[in-house]
Amino acid sequence: MKGKDKHVINLPRRIILGDDALEELGNCMKEAGAENVIVLMSKTPLKLLGDRIKKILSGNYFSFKILLVGDRDAFSEAKRIEKMLSFKRNRGKTFIVGVGGGRVIDAGKILAWRRGLEFASVPTVPSHDGIASPLASAPKGRKRYSFYTVMPSMIIGDVSILSVAPDRYFGSGVGDLVAKYTAVRDWRLSHLLRGEYYGEYAAGLAESIADRIMKCADIITSDKFEGASILIEALIHAGVLIGIAGSSRPCSGSEHLFSHALDLVAGYPALHGEQVGIGTIMMSKLHNCDWTKVRETLSTVRAPVTAKDIKVSEKKIIEALTIAHRIRPERYTVLGDKGLTKKAAEELAKSTMII
Ligand SMILES: [Zn+2]
Repeated sequence: MKGKDKHVINLPRRIILGDDALEELGNCMKEAGAENVIVLMSKTPLKLLGDRIKKILSGNYFSFKILLVGDRDAFSEAKRIEKMLSFKRNRGKTFIVGVGGGRVIDAGKILAWRRGLEFASVPTVPSHDGIASPLASAPKGRKRYSFYTVMPSMIIGDVSILSVAPDRYFGSGVGDLVAKYTAVRDWRLSHLLRGEYYGEYAAGLAESIADRIMKCADIITSDKFEGASILIEALIHAGVLIGIAGSSRPCSGSEHLFSHALDLVAGYPALHGEQVGIGTIMMSKLHNCDWTKVRETLSTVRAPVTAKDIKVSEKKIIEALTIAHRIRPERYTVLGDKGLTKKAAEELAKSTMII
């Protein structure tokens, strides 16, 4: 590759997974030469883990602050916190640490990106692959946009914390992982039809992530500790893959477009991974692959598999299917340029038992 074609890959420097991995946060910051550490947390993680984090970070050479992320979207919160803090030049190496769910981690990534700082991701729920990817999402008008920020340079997956997350987040995490089954097929299709860049290595890895999760569905429901450990590992691999591919292509295809369309017509009815899971069932059918396997996996982990499960009307599911291809027109998928007709959408949703 030469000139403009240079492919740059940013990867995390350290990933720590396991029981009580959070205890390593202080050491990690010390070893990375941090002088200031800014920890962002939302209400519940702050209540549950605030004192523990204070203890873990105290007694080191660096200074630290724990800040509450409010209820607004990640971008607005990142900007509010940025204004509150004074980032003077040459004031030493500052690390942003996000402890919580998707929104807090996104706020941390956005803040780190805007100030050119390093970011450490400490997820408390195994709900989607944004915990380890360089992408953040924020609303703009009625739509949500994904954009590149920074690749987390550290990821700490504390399985004892993740394993006590509500079951729903496990279902969402599985939904965001089975999605790779169709995302990779959409990517390959776009490569074959449109000559889009396609990375065989990243595609193969994404496919193996979806395969593994389908095989592990039983363990994920029967043993939450083992399940959290499998899920967090897979979600981190998926996030890192986005860094390797330099695009969200291996992780996000027509099933994600359906979920974004559903957000638009039904106003964010369920968790990201729950909607994506339902999208994967239908897009698998369009790709002529085994949609029943996807459905069984989601049922096993008690993730939603019907419109009723996410309290969305049949009409809205059909509407979302017919507009999904317009969400990101540059992203070619099995939905094609024209998308589904209303009749085809209804048939697809009925034949896959979504409605
Ligand atoms: Zn996703």
